[in-house]
Amino acid sequence: MTKPIQVAIDGPAGAGKSSVAKVLAKRLNYIYLDTGAMYRAVTWYVLQKKISFADTAAIEQILPEIELQFSEDGEGNWLLFCNGQDISQEIRTTEVSNNVSAIAMLTKVREEMVRQQQKIAANHNVIMDGRDICSTVLPEAQYKFFLTASLEERAKRRGAELEAKGEVVDYEQLRQEIALRDEKDSKREVSPLRQAEDAMLIDTSNLDFSTVVEKLFSIITK
Ligand code: C5P
Repeated sequence: MTKPIQVAIDGPAGAGKSSVAKVLAKRLNYIYLDTGAMYRAVTWYVLQKKISFADTAAIEQILPEIELQFSEDGEGNWLLFCNGQDISQEIRTTEVSNNVSAIAMLTKVREEMVRQQQKIAANHNVIMDGRDICSTVLPEAQYKFFLTASLEERAKRRGAELEAKGEVVDYEQLRQEIALRDEKDSKREVSPLRQAEDAMLIDTSNLDFSTVVEKLFSIITK
């Protein structure tokens, strides 16, 4: 195979990265890798094992027990399996969302996730979204984007997603949770969330979903 195509998308929580990446991956027939889901899976596993988020040694110790696998369901939805169990829904709970930054700041966790992500990208055309993809995971990616939107807009979109799943949403609380997660992700020492110098900034606050998809699609296929 010739050199695989790599598309890297970073940005804060709720900017629409994964929705855009999923649609693009389907249209381009690339693999979609949701790296946030991997950090969420580790968080879910730590919660299952009732390990304290402050117990770094115990978290590092259980890392080798966690085997993650993505699988496409034939309709463009990517499911995540942890040790054979489908945890695609479980990793989307508020409890996981509110604790994932504590796991994602751990050096050993990041090293292991980045290793797995790079392995997948080595042999496939991929679209990967996360926080450190342009800078750390795929620094040689042919296409790099930083997708963002105002905090209000991101909270609105995330809230609508949760409501569509039947959840009751307190928008002010959701706004605060997203802001706190962005702050933790931006201030951590290892691979903090920030726009890479060579990533194209796309502010989606006033753009509808299909406009964003078309914009990226035309750049990638130009
Ligand atoms: O993308 P998502 O919002 O699901 O990511 C969940 C969390 O995983 C982020 O808030 C961040 O703490 C962490 N993450 C990361 N690096 C990535 C992807 C996600 O640190 N590449």
